[in-house]
Amino acid sequence: MTKTYDITTIDGDGIGPEVCQSAVAVLREACGSRLRFDAQPGGAAHYLRSGAVLPDETLAACRQSHASLHGAAGLPEVTYPDGTEVGNDLHLQLRFKLDLFANVRPIRLYKGVQSPLRDWTAGQIDYVIVRENTEGLYASRGAGINLRGELATDTLVVTRKGVERVAKFAFELSRRRSGAPRDGQRRVTVCDKANILRSYAFFRAVFDEVGAAYPDVQRDYAYADAITVHMLKKPDFYDVIVAENMFGDIISDLGAGTVGGLGIAASAELGETHGLFQGAHGSAPDIAGQNLASPVATVLSGALMLRWLADRHGDAALGEDATRVERAVEAVLAEGVTVPRDLGGDASCTAMTEAICRALL
Ligand code: ATP
Repeated sequence: MTKTYDITTIDGDGIGPEVCQSAVAVLREACGSRLRFDAQPGGAAHYLRSGAVLPDETLAACRQSHASLHGAAGLPEVTYPDGTEVGNDLHLQLRFKLDLFANVRPIRLYKGVQSPLRDWTAGQIDYVIVRENTEGLYASRGAGINLRGELATDTLVVTRKGVERVAKFAFELSRRRSGAPRDGQRRVTVCDKANILRSYAFFRAVFDEVGAAYPDVQRDYAYADAITVHMLKKPDFYDVIVAENMFGDIISDLGAGTVGGLGIAASAELGETHGLFQGAHGSAPDIAGQNLASPVATVLSGALMLRWLADRHGDAALGEDATRVERAVEAVLAEGVTVPRDLGGDASCTAMTEAICRALL
C-alpha cells in the first residue's frame, strides 16, 4: 500500500507565505495525494495578533506530523523588549523543542546560474555545510545577561554530546557523497576558532575523536576567519563542513552567495525523530507580497524533505520524487528562460512555480 505522510506547513511572514505555498504546489504536483498538508499559524504577525510566535497547537502539529515545511518568519519592527526579533523565535523554538541538532545546508552551483566567483561552473562547487543547530553561541538566546543596561553577556555552550552527534552526522553524510569536486576525496572540515577559545578547542578535540572512527574520510581543519577566504578561492576543495551554530549561520550565507544567493539556498534541520525544512533565507520584508521572491530555496528544501522521509521510511518511490523535484529545478535553471529576479531574470514567484511544475511533467 502506498504510504502517506502528514506535513505541517507554517507560512510565516514576509515572503514566507509565497515561497511556502510555491513549495506545496510543486510537492503536490510531484507526490499527489501521498502528502497531506496541514497549515498552522506562527510568526511575527501571528505574535502581534495572539501573543504567541509559536502557538502550542502549531508545536503539537509539528511533533505529530512526519515533517514540517516552513516559509520564513520575522518582521524587523516586531521585537521583544530586549531588542531581539520575535520572528526568529519561531524556528529557534522549534530547533530546541524538537532537538533539531543538524542544520544541513547544501551549497551547489547549478547549471545556468552564474557564480559571482570567476571561472567556476556547475559541478565544481558542491559541498554541504552542517551547522550545529542547538547549542553554540545561540544557545544563550533569551538567556544572556543585561546588567543595569551597562553590561551584556551571552555564553557560548559546547557539550560533548552536542559535538559528537553533529560530527557523526557530518562524517556519515560524507560517506554517502562522492567526495569533493576537486579530488573526489571524502573530507569533513571543521570550522572553528580552536586557536583562540577553549570552547572551540574542545569542539575540535571531540570532532577528532569522532573522526577517528572514519578512516576513509579525511579530516580537515579551518579557522572561521580563514575559511571565508578558502570558500571563495578553492570552493571545489570542500565536501562537508561542520561548524558551531553561529559560525555555521554566517558561513552558510557566504556559501549561498557563491552559488547564486539566498533565494537558491535550501536547508534541512534534522534531529533523531523530526525534520524542519525551509529556505536558508529569512522573510525578506523588502520584497514581500509583490510576487518577487524566488521560491527555489524552499522548493529545494521540499526535495530535501522528501529524501529525508524516503530514507527514514524506506520509501524508494518518495526518494525518486525527491530526485524528480531537484531535476525539475535544475532543468528550469539550466534552460535559462524562466529566471528568478535574484538570479538576473524577471520571473515572478508564481512563474517560477509554474515552470518547475511543468518541468516535473
Ligand atoms: P534572517 O536574519 O531572518 O535570515 P536576513 O535579515 O538575513 O534574515 P533575508 O530575509 O534572509 O535577510 O534576506 C536578505 C535579502 O536577500 C532580502 O532582503 C532579499 O532582498 C534577498 N532575498 C532573500 N530571500 C530571497 C528570495 N527567496 N528571493 C529573492 N530574494 C531574496
